[in-house]
Amino acid sequence: MSIPPAFERDPTLASLETRVLHCGVDRGRPFVLLEDTVFYPEGGGQPCDLGTVNGVAVLEVQKREGEIRHYLAGAIPEGGASLQLDWIRRFDHMQQHTGQHLLTALAQDRFHWATTAFHLGTTVCDIELDTPAISAAGLDRLEEAVAEAIRARREVSARWVSPEAYGQEEVRSRGLPEGHEGGIRLVEIAGVDLNTCGGTHLRHTGEIETLKLLGTESIRGGTRLFFVAGRRARQRLGDHERRTASFRTLLGAPDEDLLPALQIRLDQLLALDRRCRKLEEELAGALSAALAARPDAFVEAHLEGRDAAFLQRLARMITGIDPAKVVFLTTEQAGQGLFFLGGGEVAALDVAAAGREMVSLLGAKGGGAGKTFQGKAPDLAARAQAVAHLKNLVAPCN
Ligand SMILES: [Zn+2]
Repeated sequence: MSIPPAFERDPTLASLETRVLHCGVDRGRPFVLLEDTVFYPEGGGQPCDLGTVNGVAVLEVQKREGEIRHYLAGAIPEGGASLQLDWIRRFDHMQQHTGQHLLTALAQDRFHWATTAFHLGTTVCDIELDTPAISAAGLDRLEEAVAEAIRARREVSARWVSPEAYGQEEVRSRGLPEGHEGGIRLVEIAGVDLNTCGGTHLRHTGEIETLKLLGTESIRGGTRLFFVAGRRARQRLGDHERRTASFRTLLGAPDEDLLPALQIRLDQLLALDRRCRKLEEELAGALSAALAARPDAFVEAHLEGRDAAFLQRLARMITGIDPAKVVFLTTEQAGQGLFFLGGGEVAALDVAAAGREMVSLLGAKGGGAGKTFQGKAPDLAARAQAVAHLKNLVAPCN
């Protein structure tokens, strides 16, 4: 069997001196094939490694037709190659991936939950388990079992066996990539797990540091279990601490009172919102009565700090009181001018045509249906002309 790549022989190698065997271009992207490599190509749920080759950034590493293609930010010549891994990224992947081996093994052995999928995400990881639900107590027991195995610093090792010897091994899940030929790589967590895997792993479970279960989600009759391991768990805790500190400042409450304090604020907000709506109704009632009482058929008003819905409601109320009225209302919201033009049942105005004229006069965008037309303008600088024009349309004074 051919010699496995360096990332399989020694996953602790962060750099390597080797040679570029071939330079190619794939859909405009330069790539190289190397004599040996520390770069793990994407596969088995584990994202690829990143880093540099001769100082040029590695953007992606993929297995294509039995070759490992290193896609680079720029072309490099054939010859000597100095490889440098983004070790923080790789070690993070090893922590999540080795953690997943352990989690999968213990979920199966202690709880009979088989793992059907694994995703190593950029922030959290998950496995899919063939159980419809997991209780909070079940999660606690599983997490504790993983913690115990981490504390035991169980050795993690890889070895290759022939296809014939493979049949004699007590391997957990039998599944080889289609068309697999030659030796089979087995990864063992001493006393816990033996599995086929081509990924990169830690030297012992102690290097996982910690594994925290985050929660579950139902998925296709099974359960998706979210987790983070190692440095990610520490970073996540740090993020939570910073966020909680901001909540403490915002709400002026200690940790244990944050939720009730937030609930009180939300209840207050709801009550204020209800009150605000009631006041708006009263305001619309008073305004519509005052505007409808004006003697002219055309009424207009500019209202500060209202929204399009308020203008619309007010106009409908006015034409409801006096169906001969034509109403033109404006407001300013978020640095934009809003207008609403409405005509009552018997109003003497082609509202659609007049609306289009408003659009052109105010440099606005808008549209309407029947006897209503609304629009948005960058500003209301031409409002006075608009009002004069409408007044003339409704009651020509020549
Ligand atoms: Zn693995």
